[in-house]
Amino acid sequence: MEFRDLKKQYQVLKSGMDAAIGQVLEESAYIGGKSVAQLEAELAEYVGVKHCITCGNGTDALTLALMAWGIGEGDAVFVPDFTFFSSAETVAYEGATPVFTDILEDTFNMDPDSLERAVQAVLAEGKLKPRVIVAVDLFGLPADYERIREIADRYGMYILEDAAQGFGGSLHGRRAGSFGDIATTSFFPAKPLGCYGDGGAVFTDNDEWAELIRSLRIHGKGTDKYDNVRIGMNSRLDTLQAAVLRVKLKAFREYELKDTDRIAARYEEGLSDCVKVPKIPEGYGSGWAQYSILLKDGEERGAVQEYLKEHGVPTNIYYPRGMHQQTAFAGCRLYGETFPVTSDVCQRVLALPLSPYLTEEDQAKVIRLIREKTGADI
Ligand SMILES: *Cc1c(COP(=O)(O)O)cnc(C)c1O
Repeated sequence: MEFRDLKKQYQVLKSGMDAAIGQVLEESAYIGGKSVAQLEAELAEYVGVKHCITCGNGTDALTLALMAWGIGEGDAVFVPDFTFFSSAETVAYEGATPVFTDILEDTFNMDPDSLERAVQAVLAEGKLKPRVIVAVDLFGLPADYERIREIADRYGMYILEDAAQGFGGSLHGRRAGSFGDIATTSFFPAKPLGCYGDGGAVFTDNDEWAELIRSLRIHGKGTDKYDNVRIGMNSRLDTLQAAVLRVKLKAFREYELKDTDRIAARYEEGLSDCVKVPKIPEGYGSGWAQYSILLKDGEERGAVQEYLKEHGVPTNIYYPRGMHQQTAFAGCRLYGETFPVTSDVCQRVLALPLSPYLTEEDQAKVIRLIREKTGADI
């Protein structure tokens, strides 16, 4: 059994995929070109924003956003403690200070109360200027943008939506990627919309930032390609990946997200009486980057993971530690926050096999094994 079945996906998409890749090879233009521009237009339309700017990966996308806002030394950027390293790494790389917040157990997303306490602690200390909230749409579920927007407005901060896992998620009919002042996503192969290598994108409605980011991603280019007007980076989505993504986006829109939703519902039905299953709050939709359950404690998680492994079922732990527990952030200032929810969830969380191509038979096996090991009725 595959954790995320990219082989099956390729088999299903093979004829369209091979034709799309073959066409790029025939044309032999590998950087820029029609496919990239078409993909950007399709992604902007799907997400519901004015501008989509593709780039090399989801980490660069975050960096490009921070660069466009001039975030650096003396700036505080608020990041959930429970996320992938990039969400905070990019902040520190720009010379700004990541300030960590706890999360909510029900959604795995940033806890707005913890966020507000951290902002006030930074202000009370008076050394850093609160500038940005990195709101992460973890495991596919958009963060609580109603409350986070309120806090951003109250303290004059921008929201940078890290939708690397959020693509396809929604809130009150709006799609992930449209909630931040700038939003970013990743096309790493295992993400909800993945390419065959690295890729990423930035989304915004703001014309000025979009123009700046288009320049920053290609060496700070000006209108004349060989007059570089600012220091930027080299971060482009290549033409082959754009062609791959156009084929995958079509499948994602037509059936993949719906099928994954149906599979998630089957997990919920099969498991909600014996483990804690993800709860999608009223008005929200998940892009289902992961299906992450919570076991009783670390001991039960270890036992269930081992039992599944013995029976050929792959699982993963996202994430075994919080950002403040990462070696690279050892000794960072914590502004009074203690992260009890993150610390607890890190011991109990387990991500199950999930993809639109997971068969009913394989899924039934996963459910049965978990029920057996947790002592539920079979
Ligand atoms: C995957 C991921 C990223 C980074 O994306 P890459 O394309 O691997 O650079 C950033 N943030 C989150 C939350 C992610 O899951």
